[in-house]
Amino acid sequence: MRQTLVIANWKLNGNTALLKTMAEHFHHVDIQEQVDVVICPPAVYLKTAAVLFEPTGIKLGGQNCSEHGSGAFTGEISAEMLSDIGCSYVIIGHSERRAIFAESNEMIAGKIKQAQKGKLCPVLCVGETLAEREANDVESVIREQLETALVDADFDNLVIAYEPVWAIGTGKTATPEQAQEVHKMIRDWVAKKAPESAQKIQILYGGSVKADNASTLFHQADIDGGLIGGASLDTEQFDAICKAA
Ligand code: PGA
Repeated sequence: MRQTLVIANWKLNGNTALLKTMAEHFHHVDIQEQVDVVICPPAVYLKTAAVLFEPTGIKLGGQNCSEHGSGAFTGEISAEMLSDIGCSYVIIGHSERRAIFAESNEMIAGKIKQAQKGKLCPVLCVGETLAEREANDVESVIREQLETALVDADFDNLVIAYEPVWAIGTGKTATPEQAQEVHKMIRDWVAKKAPESAQKIQILYGGSVKADNASTLFHQADIDGGLIGGASLDTEQFDAICKAA
């Protein structure tokens, strides 16, 4: 039985006031034992978040980390630093990082390595664009993303998030059947690489998850929770998504 995992990706949003509202809310809400909740605010807020969320049981994650461990890399933040200030997770290879900041599969592989070395659990994001889906390339695109990013990865300390690019921030969600099909393909792929990890690894769905579609998505056989963008900025909505799990 896999634990359900719900991760909030705040992206370039939020402030101290939102952190306080969320922490106050979740201080009074009992998160069910079978759900792990992680919040990934912008890096500058992580230290404050670590203090505010301490009593809630909610864990913290970074939205990105460097593929370098340390040194002359102005502006970068290492996995070890995230770990040092209280993070347990880090999102790697989000489609916005791939498309806007030109992150290649090879850079992403370096980040996965650093994350695992730095004692963080990487959340590797994979997903196809609309053009790739229409060209029937879903499986080959995702396989390539997995193969290149996870060359030497430890599958026992890894989360994979399937996020179809066409569903991110668009209000278009993959149907539960479309999502389940890809999740199963990912789990079958893991079974070939690391047979003993395939039934244990959490595979999350991301892309316009809302309070009203979360439950059906999360109850698919191979969907173990969600990576939530827009809806994670609204306390009531995010709470309802956690409860749907
Ligand atoms: P969304 O974003 O929920 O706003 O679609 C998901 C994500 O980008 O992780």
